Amino acid sequence: SSATSPIKAAVKSEEERHSGPIVTRNALMWFRNDLRIRDNKALYAASMRSKVGGNNKFLVALYIVSEEEWAEHDEAPVKIDFWMRNLVTLTASLEKLGIPLVVKTAKEKTDVVKVVEEVVKGMDISHVFWSQELMVDERRRDRQVKEALLRHSGVYVEEHEDQLIVPAEDVRTKTGNPYAVFTPFYNTWCKLVESESHYLEITVTPDANPPKAKELYAEHFKTKSPSSHPHPLDVNEMKRRYPAGEDEAHARLEKFVQEKGKKYHQGRDVPHQDGTSVLSMYLNAGVLSTRQCIVAARIANKNKIQSGDDGLKTWIKELGWREFYRHILVAFPRVCMSRAFQPKTERVQWSDNNEHFQRWIEGKTGFPIVDAGMRQLKATGYMHNRLRMIVACFLVKDLLINWQQGEKYFMSTLIDGDLASNNGGWQWSASTGTDSQPYFRVFNPLLQSKRYDPKGDYIRRWVPELKMLTEQQIHEPSHALPPKEFAKLGYPKPIVDHAKAKDKYLTEFKRALALS
Ligand code: FAD
Repeated sequence: SSATSPIKAAVKSEEERHSGPIVTRNALMWFRNDLRIRDNKALYAASMRSKVGGNNKFLVALYIVSEEEWAEHDEAPVKIDFWMRNLVTLTASLEKLGIPLVVKTAKEKTDVVKVVEEVVKGMDISHVFWSQELMVDERRRDRQVKEALLRHSGVYVEEHEDQLIVPAEDVRTKTGNPYAVFTPFYNTWCKLVESESHYLEITVTPDANPPKAKELYAEHFKTKSPSSHPHPLDVNEMKRRYPAGEDEAHARLEKFVQEKGKKYHQGRDVPHQDGTSVLSMYLNAGVLSTRQCIVAARIANKNKIQSGDDGLKTWIKELGWREFYRHILVAFPRVCMSRAFQPKTERVQWSDNNEHFQRWIEGKTGFPIVDAGMRQLKATGYMHNRLRMIVACFLVKDLLINWQQGEKYFMSTLIDGDLASNNGGWQWSASTGTDSQPYFRVFNPLLQSKRYDPKGDYIRRWVPELKMLTEQQIHEPSHALPPKEFAKLGYPKPIVDHAKAKDKYLTEFKRALALS
């Protein structure tokens, strides 16, 4: 079929580069952030390869647990737990295909090369497959593994594009440069996505007679695969909110597209209504691919991307933002190395008021909408997009605290923490990024609250001290209630005066930008 030919062609051309076919022994699929079996090009290619070369060749899957990498990226424990739970469902899906999963641990991140080499040597592997990652460190690691395997062991490595629907080098301005502004990027990107006239989901078929890899190499299967990871939230509640597995992700996708997709343009900005898909954690773990989401939305939208139903086209555009930030990461890797996209903004003198930062973290700033968002994050590992923008803007422009502190805290708490989208979202809010909101645009928390949570339902859900207040009182209780009544609530007064804080921020930002 047309889905298989490019892969076969790629296999052939690699073999030619190696001046003659490498004899196929066993194949290895190394899973990283692509924890799914459907629409997984690398897995598909690996399974094709293992069927070459006659009987008794097998495909084995590998996952490497690297605590040091998790710590370096500030990964949230609840996110690691979600990934480990998905690893369990992935193992079961692979078993059904006759593909056993080996789980290894790399004590230090530099051990990863050694671990892959050990598996390759120990299990007589001739071909290794994986899906490309975009981050600088991961790309460096992959180059090292590739080098070690290819040069030293004569093992063939095949990398497949997975993180981007359209390869980075294909989305270019007329002068051949990467885009730094969303709208022109999106217009070009949509044309390229639209030109994919049909879409064939590639699915791995089970081996009728899978060879007994587990018996042959029993020692590699001794380690027990982690099924959970300790985290501070309610374990059962997290399982209920974000159940693991590809089937679950697809059921959510279908339900969203059928029931909420067409109302998304209205529902997405009403935090208490849950009008969004809540699929980000599945997308980031690769349990679901962005391509699968676009396809589902396109089918419901008569194959259209930029026109058709208002809700669906808006949702596809959000997936476009996800892609945009990934393209930015590839084109301007400094953004993921703690640098601002606009270097001038690095001259801002940030506040080091740790008490303010802690109050922001705890959801005790005295601004109910900000506190509600921060408490949702703390309790569930997730925050609605509108709230992410409000609390980020508040940290930077009301408290004058460096956006990088906020970025780091989000990463260490979010179940959907993702370097590209998190960095993109923070730099957008802080006006330091590619296509950010202008620096002089400062959200007024009170107006945001009245506009997006007019009846106060979202605030009541997350800030129980304010539960009994009316919709007139709830947005600014310290103003709306007599001091004695307010004191009884046990809720803090605002930690800053918004108007003064805004002036201070504007003065400082202008100063930084004016310096040459
Ligand atoms: P939906 O509204 O249903 O959107 C569908 C998908 O589109 C999302 O799952 C997501 O993959 C993508 N998407 C939607 N909005 C954006 C956006 N603004 N930027 C990039 N992708 C988007 N998203 C993350 O996945 N991980 C993060 O760590 C992250 N950090 C953020 C930090 C800040 C300060 C801000 C402002 C935004 C951040 N976002 C992040 C983007 C966005 O808030 C979430 O993707 C979204 O809230 C997830 O909910 P959902 O799946 O219901 O989204």
